Amino acid sequence: MSDRTILTGGCLCGAVRYRAEASATLPYVCWCANCRRWGGGPAHWAVVVASREVAIEGAPRVHVVTAESGREVARYFCGDCGGHLFTSPWPEVSRYSLKAGTLDDPTLYEAQHEIWARSRAPWADRNPEAARHEAGFPGPVPIG
Ligand SMILES: [Zn+2]
Ligand SMILES: [Zn+2]
Repeated sequence: MSDRTILTGGCLCGAVRYRAEASATLPYVCWCANCRRWGGGPAHWAVVVASREVAIEGAPRVHVVTAESGREVARYFCGDCGGHLFTSPWPEVSRYSLKAGTLDDPTLYEAQHEIWARSRAPWADRNPEAARHEAGFPGPVPIG
């Protein structure tokens, strides 16, 4: 039990909340143009957790897009306040990428990987500590 990371968070208005009891996490940054346009900021800062370890309250809206990787990605947001919450692979929702900015405690997040670095907007800051991948993850990356 004690080795679990508890991550709670939600949207701006509170209509959608989540709680993860994660046995492992994978904090990363995605610089792809798809994430940039969705978020309206330079990147998608998120932490991956297994979907079976996440409980969601409320009913986020879902928008499915084809990402820069060519795979389908579901993007979840609050239909009331419009706040972006998390993403998942689609249609098999095996994991969620919880947006770091939605965490109740943002100090729990520190990126370990940067993906799609080649698509980074030139005005965006980087994390010098993160492993950098010009495209997506180089292979299956275990969570944690
Ligand atoms: Zn909301
Ligand atoms: Zn992306």
